[in-house]
Amino acid sequence: MSYSDKMKTMYQEQLETIKNAGIFKEERYIHSSQAADIEVEFPTGSDLKKVINMCANNYLGLSSHPDVIKAAHTGLDMRGYGMSSVRFICGTQDIHKELESKVTEFLGTEDTILFPSCMDANAGVFEALLTSEDIMISDRLVHASIIDGMRLCSAEHDTFKHSNMEHLEQKLQLHQNKRIKMVITDGVFSMDGDIAKLDEMADLCQKYDALLFVDDSHASGFIGKTGRGTHEYCNAIGKIDIITTTFGKALGGASGGCVSGRKEIVEMCRQKARPYLFSNTIAPVVVSGVLEVFNILSGNTERRDKLEKNSDYWRKGLSEAGFVLKDGDSPIVPVMLFNAKLAQDFSKDLFAEGIYAIGFFFPVVPNGQARIRTQISAGHEIHHLDKALEAFIKIGKKYEILGLTKQEIIAKYGL
Ligand SMILES: *Cc1c(COP(=O)(O)O)cnc(C)c1O
Repeated sequence: MSYSDKMKTMYQEQLETIKNAGIFKEERYIHSSQAADIEVEFPTGSDLKKVINMCANNYLGLSSHPDVIKAAHTGLDMRGYGMSSVRFICGTQDIHKELESKVTEFLGTEDTILFPSCMDANAGVFEALLTSEDIMISDRLVHASIIDGMRLCSAEHDTFKHSNMEHLEQKLQLHQNKRIKMVITDGVFSMDGDIAKLDEMADLCQKYDALLFVDDSHASGFIGKTGRGTHEYCNAIGKIDIITTTFGKALGGASGGCVSGRKEIVEMCRQKARPYLFSNTIAPVVVSGVLEVFNILSGNTERRDKLEKNSDYWRKGLSEAGFVLKDGDSPIVPVMLFNAKLAQDFSKDLFAEGIYAIGFFFPVVPNGQARIRTQISAGHEIHHLDKALEAFIKIGKKYEILGLTKQEIIAKYGL
């Protein structure tokens, strides 16, 4: 036995430290399908509680859509359960190619390659395209999976201040002599819900001969007039060289991701991206479900339109009630509480009122920026939003924060 008492004690102490810091993450078990109304066992062992889900990435309400479920069943019957192989050996079906074409058409790119997840897409893409002669210049708030992907790549790395175009330009000038310069950003930033300035970034990339990379996981399917993503919202379709995104959020919510963009770039990923070469891709049952999601979305824009209406309604309601929000034009609406304990207590009280929304605090968001991140869905009806609003206001009154400014909340609760 090599797991000595010394090691055991060491890990026990580390876990204790996490608990004492108040940042120990606990799962809440859901006993129903993902939807606006869910049944949750929390704390573990307690009776099931019916609550409104305000923190899923189920933006379009498609996670349990009957047509998607039916398509998944059909896919299971027609193409089986598992591939038992990676793509380039014997793990590619006709439907994988069909999905790649669908995504290419939807995003308005040249080609697409599927990955087991967007985390894997981001883990593979940089190392496949860049060498130590190159530079990656990323926004300081990019998603953790991009940070990990950059760590796996031998290119140099630099950052620019969040959405600060002057700073980005300085960095592009500084690194002008590199072979390839790649500017890297999220489309919608997941914690704040703000949208990258892709039009300006595309112009800067043009001016300084740089590639532009966008992770549109929190945008694909619903941001922009027809839901293509932040490149549509920013009038930059055709100007983004590399888009990564996930099927695990708005696009059915099961799993899978992709790299979409310039033809040669996608082909390079097919030759060199390690999570593509050495890990099974998306299972046939999920591919069939995602294909149906694209069918639904190509028919009309009803769902993204409803999502937009719901998001506006929710933002307006909270704002009129006197909460401090982060500005934005997405279904991610952070209710700012600043103090970590207040965010946790607020979340607990919401749950007691039948509203499921999680508190976020350091290290997930910067110190002193604790919040409840709410996420709106086309699966919400107005009655869901009204009930949630009522609960937020009730608890806001309990903690006497309605109408207070950021400074006043901080003065009252500290950081
Ligand atoms: C959720 C998310 C991912 C990870 O997606 P998976 O397909 O679940 O791995 C990657 N990037 C961003 C920006 C995300 O929000």
